[in-house]
Amino acid sequence: MNRTYYGKLIFELSKQGRVGYSLPKNEFEGYSLVELDATLSRQTELSLPECDELTVVRHYTNMSNNNFGVDTGFYPLGSCTMKYNPKLNEEVCQLPGFNLHPMTPAKYAQGSLKLYDEVQKTLAEIAGLSRFTLNPYAGAHGELTGLMVIRSYHISRGDTLRTKIIVPDSAHGTNPASAAVCGLQIVEVKSLADGTVDVEALKPLLGPDIAGMMMTNPNTLGLFEKQIPEIARLVHECGGLMYYDGANLNPMLGVCRPGDMGFDVMHINLHKTFSTPHGGGGPGSGPVGVRKGLEQFLPNPQVRLTPNPSLVERGADTSAYELHCETTPLSTREGQGVSPYVSFFLGNFGIIIRAYAYLLSLGKENIPMAGKLSVLNANYIKESLRSHYKLPIDTVCKHEFVFDGLLEEYGGDHHDPEHVTTLDVAKRLLDYGFHAPTIYFPLLFHEALMIEPTETESKETLDDFIAVMKRIAEEAKTNPQLLKTAPHDTPVRRMDDVKAVKEPHFTYYK
Ligand SMILES: *Cc1c(COP(=O)(O)O)cnc(C)c1O
Repeated sequence: MNRTYYGKLIFELSKQGRVGYSLPKNEFEGYSLVELDATLSRQTELSLPECDELTVVRHYTNMSNNNFGVDTGFYPLGSCTMKYNPKLNEEVCQLPGFNLHPMTPAKYAQGSLKLYDEVQKTLAEIAGLSRFTLNPYAGAHGELTGLMVIRSYHISRGDTLRTKIIVPDSAHGTNPASAAVCGLQIVEVKSLADGTVDVEALKPLLGPDIAGMMMTNPNTLGLFEKQIPEIARLVHECGGLMYYDGANLNPMLGVCRPGDMGFDVMHINLHKTFSTPHGGGGPGSGPVGVRKGLEQFLPNPQVRLTPNPSLVERGADTSAYELHCETTPLSTREGQGVSPYVSFFLGNFGIIIRAYAYLLSLGKENIPMAGKLSVLNANYIKESLRSHYKLPIDTVCKHEFVFDGLLEEYGGDHHDPEHVTTLDVAKRLLDYGFHAPTIYFPLLFHEALMIEPTETESKETLDDFIAVMKRIAEEAKTNPQLLKTAPHDTPVRRMDDVKAVKEPHFTYYK
């Protein structure tokens, strides 16, 4: 199987004068309705590739075959939940009734608003919270929105000194980043050797300047934070609010609820937990939920079902969905320079439709199975590979887990300058047709290799992956050079990661 396309750039395929279209004769040649100002006209020829249609079709079709996606192979990218995106979701999303202009008045968009409202309500039930907004575009955007809710809450009470937020050292990088964008100062709390938050280290950090604490559960190591009730009690006692990073809510679905654990605000990634496609930057969706009493701080507009007198004459159903804007807290927020809007219109609506289709296809009774199977799959891989890879935290994991590189007997001793690194293992995996796991994250270990299989993979796929991972460990022992020079079978060989980040070239110059 060789799908690799080592083709040229479309500019290199260009032949001067070659066209892929023919236009009818211009009957108005010589007539001009509008004289363009010379300053508006192009001074030099536009540099576009000149190709025939077949060349263009082949070029882009072959390029697309170089892509790796969840539709082409196993993608165990920890923290990213690369579960299968059912094709039914795509079909539902393309129903003509959903193809609305964003300025369509609410009374002509009742079906779409009803769908939005049902997703809001379903998420509220899954999370054990009072109300959700689906407006934020991504997980990080949800974090920012949620932190704005927390700030607005404190400010509305005249409690303006709460400018610090506690974030565990194992947190996803977006947590401190969002907090900084929200104007909060980050206070880091350390983890214990078992990977969970150190409650004793938390206690001295609490005080009247603490706006709240962000927690991820299961945390970035795939571990359930068992101390949450105690942590929530301590943070609430000092006047702070609890924020739940639910980007990866997968293992919790239908099993336990952030609201019941004492969290006040949270976000969920529809593009991870609810199977909507992602990668390459989006589009995503990061709905934010709040407990009772915080609803008025959610961003505008909100979708509400309200009795509508104008529909009374139509019969029994007198309710209609409306776009509602909170007015009371605006002054507070504007006073702090924060807009009550976080997105245009109602967020990435196409993604919300796909998530709704996923929820309905699973059905309430099957949602808990998704989480349980994702946990089973992760533990199956972990237990099958612990004979070859270092398992720094030896306990039952949730939907993902972290290895700390190869075992020493397979060349993984990081004190040895010649040791086989996690990067080498990740690159070699590409030769076997698998996407690499997340590497060097979280930062708690030298050689982190973070694996998340998700529930949608069959046992056969997991077994293939386990066999390849063991084979790579054997190769590391017998022929480390093979790993050091991997990948061997990809369109480009090993990249200079630093150069790729520091000197990226996105345009073609002759
Ligand atoms: C993915 C992820 C995020 C960020 O989500 P984006 O949609 O990529 O912004 C935040 N927290 C955790 C734990 C995540 O896994």
